[in-house]
Amino acid sequence: MKGTMISAEMIAPCGLNCSLCKRALAEANPCPGCHGPNENKPEFCAERCGIILCRKRIERGYKYCDECPDYPCADVMEKETRYTSKYPLYESPGKNLRDIRKFGMEKFLEAEQKQWICKECGHIISVHTGICSGCGKQYGAQIMQINEDTWRIEDGTVRFFLLKGTEKALLIDSGMTIRHAREIAEALTGLPVFLLNTHSDRDHTGCNEQFEFFYMHPADEAHYRSSGKGNRLIPVKDGDEMDLGNRKLRIIHLPGHTSGSIAVLDISRRVLISGDPLQEHGHIFMFGEHRNMKDYIESLEKLDKMKADFDEIWPSHGDLPIYPDCIRKHCDGAKQILNKEIKGTEKEVFGQKIKVYHIGETAFLYDK
Ligand code: SF4
Ligand code: SF4
Ligand SMILES: [Zn+2]
Ligand SMILES: [Zn+2]
Ligand SMILES: [Zn+2]
Repeated sequence: MKGTMISAEMIAPCGLNCSLCKRALAEANPCPGCHGPNENKPEFCAERCGIILCRKRIERGYKYCDECPDYPCADVMEKETRYTSKYPLYESPGKNLRDIRKFGMEKFLEAEQKQWICKECGHIISVHTGICSGCGKQYGAQIMQINEDTWRIEDGTVRFFLLKGTEKALLIDSGMTIRHAREIAEALTGLPVFLLNTHSDRDHTGCNEQFEFFYMHPADEAHYRSSGKGNRLIPVKDGDEMDLGNRKLRIIHLPGHTSGSIAVLDISRRVLISGDPLQEHGHIFMFGEHRNMKDYIESLEKLDKMKADFDEIWPSHGDLPIYPDCIRKHCDGAKQILNKEIKGTEKEVFGQKIKVYHIGETAFLYDK
């Protein structure tokens, strides 16, 4: 049912907000929520959920599980782990209960209403799909498996990657709006997860502070710190190799888009995870203090000589995959822009006057 209001009856004993459930938002036979009659509930919630069946809860009349001395029991923990890691949007039943105690049900519902109502049409967004039940707009991250040990996570206009080896997993960037990249990575791989950033721009570092330390080229540290983030940077440099266990990666320093931009070569898979310097049907930001068009051109000249090492390029924006022939096109286009051989159109971005130059399918945003 296309919902617009989140009500107290839809808050399950564990704290889960059933209003956000895809079954409660279904057009046909919507689930009435955990407290409702079993009719129209899926089989699991009607007959197998340990929280619903819990004798202690029923006999002692606990409305919410946090009244129970055994809280949080294994069933509650399973639900907490699932909802904080498996779905495109983040929902913590445990935090819901804490907020209800701290602020009262009315304030809690007000906050939920703000968080889960679609800005475009006023209907509820499903936690399970990230899709608005009214207009179909996609919110949150979409987790897509590329092959058995690689995932792409689409977070609005940016994407980041999760690579699994036999011993550890690596997140390459941490998203923009998402708040639980680490939990997603741990749940998908079951391995210790480390973080490496292609560069310091904010659309790539959203969840960085979930990690005590992260790998990045040190030339981007000052820009990274300008957003107030304090966790520890472990520097990487051109030519460094990382081994995730039977999966070796090589760092390629490509200054230009930012001074510390890097690409990651997944050596045996022959894939280059490129960050922002290469994009098709995307916008390459080359305006502002920490960009440098001359460095960018030099970087692409260097990368063009390495193109025999990879068959596909996976960028952070635009089409995926793209192919090594785009390096030459981007490099020649950037030279034409720098030498003023082509004309750009004026535009204002972030309050700054810039010019947009179209090179094939790619738009370069440059300030000269
Ligand atoms: S299916 Fe389960 S989780 Fe979803 S609304 Fe119904 S009771 Fe709640
Ligand atoms: S926390 Fe207590 S009441 Fe809730 S399901 Fe577990 S044992 Fe039952
Ligand atoms: Zn909507
Ligand atoms: Zn960037
Ligand atoms: Zn970006």
